[in-house]
Amino acid sequence: MDFKDFGRLDRPPCRYQLKKAMTARHPFKRNMVIRMKGEHQAQAFSLYELCIVVAIIGLLCSMAVRGYAKAREATQREVCVENLEKIHAMKVVWAIEHEAGDGRQPSLADLEPFFGGERFPICPAGGTYVIGKVKDPPSCSAGHKLESFTYSL
Ligand SMILES: [Zn+2]
Repeated sequence: MDFKDFGRLDRPPCRYQLKKAMTARHPFKRNMVIRMKGEHQAQAFSLYELCIVVAIIGLLCSMAVRGYAKAREATQREVCVENLEKIHAMKVVWAIEHEAGDGRQPSLADLEPFFGGERFPICPAGGTYVIGKVKDPPSCSAGHKLESFTYSL
């Protein structure tokens, strides 16, 4: 195929036809690279572009995972503090009902009836609760604390 044959084609010549015509005309330039835009051009990412896309996706994923972990931790802390508030309130109710002093320490079995059939609260982060004396705030082994602790009998 030569350049003059291109006129007989019903569509523009593809890369291979063009290369064949070029090498027929210039046989000493066999390794020339022909770049053309058209239907025969392969649309592909280069390795460099692919690496950038993968790096960006990785960065976004790491940010999302970190944000999710922080949100989860904050929610667990909130739920645990709420549980500690409930436990403290039930301790006070128990102390009033049993006319117990603030130095007494109710057991888990003592407090369970005050939860109205619900099970005793569980720390969502897997911590265990120490009920403690009536005058002390209950504590969680996972490090959650009652921030604003007020005690009055
Ligand atoms: Zn906790």
